[in-house]
Amino acid sequence: MTLVYQSTRDANNKVTASQAILQGLAADGGLFTPVSYPTVDLDFDVLKDASYQEVAKLVLSAFLDDFTAEELDYCINNAYDNKFDTPEIAPLVKLKGQYNLELFRGSTIAFKDMALSILPYFMTTAAKKHGLENEIVILTATSGDTGKAAMAGFADVPGTKIIVFYPRDGVSKVQELQMTTQTGANTHVVAIDGNFDDAQTDVKRMFNDAALREKLAAHKLQFSSANSMNIGRLVPQIVYYVWAYAQLVKAGDIEAGQEVNFTVPTGNFGNILAAYYAKQIGLPVGKLICASNDNNVLTDFFATKTYDKKRAFKVTTSPSMDILVSSNLERLIFHLVGNDAQKTKNLMDQLAEKGQYSLEDADAAILDLFAAGFATEAETAAEIKRVYDENAYIEDPHTAVASAVYKAYAEQTGDLRPTVIVSTASPYKFPVVAVEAVTGKSGLSDFEALEQLHEISGVAYPKAVDGLETAPVLHKTVVAATDMQAAVESYLGV
Ligand SMILES: *Cc1c(COP(=O)(O)O)cnc(C)c1O
Repeated sequence: MTLVYQSTRDANNKVTASQAILQGLAADGGLFTPVSYPTVDLDFDVLKDASYQEVAKLVLSAFLDDFTAEELDYCINNAYDNKFDTPEIAPLVKLKGQYNLELFRGSTIAFKDMALSILPYFMTTAAKKHGLENEIVILTATSGDTGKAAMAGFADVPGTKIIVFYPRDGVSKVQELQMTTQTGANTHVVAIDGNFDDAQTDVKRMFNDAALREKLAAHKLQFSSANSMNIGRLVPQIVYYVWAYAQLVKAGDIEAGQEVNFTVPTGNFGNILAAYYAKQIGLPVGKLICASNDNNVLTDFFATKTYDKKRAFKVTTSPSMDILVSSNLERLIFHLVGNDAQKTKNLMDQLAEKGQYSLEDADAAILDLFAAGFATEAETAAEIKRVYDENAYIEDPHTAVASAVYKAYAEQTGDLRPTVIVSTASPYKFPVVAVEAVTGKSGLSDFEALEQLHEISGVAYPKAVDGLETAPVLHKTVVAATDMQAAVESYLGV
C-alpha cells in the first residue's frame, strides 16, 4: 500500500510522496503530512556498519514509497557524494558530556545541504514519473542561507533552472560572495534594492500570478518551491537521526534499544520534526529538546500551549533561527490534535487573524516527548567559549544555542541519557561571532575572522570559503524591488 500524505488543512486532499514533492505546498494552504507511518526494520546490528547512503536508502524507500529502488539509488548517489567533505557525510563527534552531529560538511556548510542536495533529484524524478514535460524553475527569496544551499543543490541539474533574489544590503559579505560566485549554467542570482520581505512578497506574488504561469507554460516552464514546507526536504532529515544512533551503537557508547536525546537548534521546526518522525518509525528517542534563541516563541509554546507571535522580532547572532512564525510546527499541531485537519485549519486561521492560538485537547504523550528552552546572546557566546575551553572545538552560534539549552536542561532535570547536539552550521559560516566569543576580539572583518578562526581551531578551510575572497563574481545584476518579474522574464526569455 502506498503511503498517504494528507494536507494538514483538508482531510480530502491526499497525495502520494512524489505528488507531494512536486506540489510543495498544498493548494489549501496546508502542508502534506504523513497520517500513518511505514514499517522500517531498524536493526542496529546491521545499521551500525551501514554507510550513510545505505541508511538513506532504508529510510527514504519507506517514506517515499512510490519511488522505485533504482530511482532512489539515482537520487541518493547524486546527492551524497564528494560534495560533502567527508565520506561519512554527517560525522558524530564525541565531546565532554555531549555528542555533536555535524550536519555542515556539505557544499554550503550549513545543514540545509542535507536535504537540498537531494531535493532537486526527487523533483526531476517525480516530474519524469508523472510525465511532466516542463522544465522546473525554482524561484527563491533568501536572507542568506537557503538561497545558496538551493543553488548548490540545483546547479547543473538537468531539467531545472533556479533564480535567487537577495536583499543587497541584508546579507553578510561571506554570504553575498557565496551566492554571487555560484557556478552552474542554470543558476541566476539577483540582488534587489529592498529588504528580505520585499523579495519574499514578490516571489510569493509571482507564484500566484496566473498570467505569468501561462506565459511560462507556453515556453514549457513551471515554477516550483524549495522551501522547507516541501516534504521532500523533511524526509531526508529523518535519515541522519537514524545514522547518528547507529554511530553511537557502533562506537559501543550505547546498546541498541537504549534511549538517546536530541537537542535541535530550531527555527522553522523542520529539523526537530524530522526527529519526531524518526521516533515514530521506532528510533529509541528519549527527549527532543527544542532550542531557541531570544526569539523564544517556541519555548513559550511548549510551556503554555499558547502560540503567540505578537512580539518584537529580535536580530541575533543565530539568524537562521530568527523566526516568529515557525511554519513546520503546523505539522506537529496536526498530530497534537489527533490528525484533525479541521481543527488544525481553525488554529492556523486564528494565528493569521489574531496572531495567536491556544491548544485545548492536545495529545499529552506527544507533548511529553518535547522539552524546550532558549539561550540569550550572552549565554550563546559563553557556551562557544566553554565548549572551546573544554574540548578545543568551536561551535557555530546556532549549535551553541542548542548546546547551552541542553546544558541547562541536564542540570535542571538530571536526565543522564546520552544526548546528541544537532550541529547545523560550521563556525566558518559565522567567523566573526565565533572568534569574538573565543578570543574576546571585536571589530574584525569577515575575512580577518576567517583567518583567525583557522589559527585557533586548526580546522581546514572548507571549500565553501576557501578562495572566496578572490573567486570571480559571476552574478552582478541588481534590480529595484519592483522589477523582479522583469528580471525573471528576461532571464527565462519569456
Ligand atoms: C535553517 C537553520 C536552522 C533552523 O532549522 P529549522 O528546520 O528551520 O528549525 C538552524 N540552524 C541553521 C544553521 C539553519 O540554517
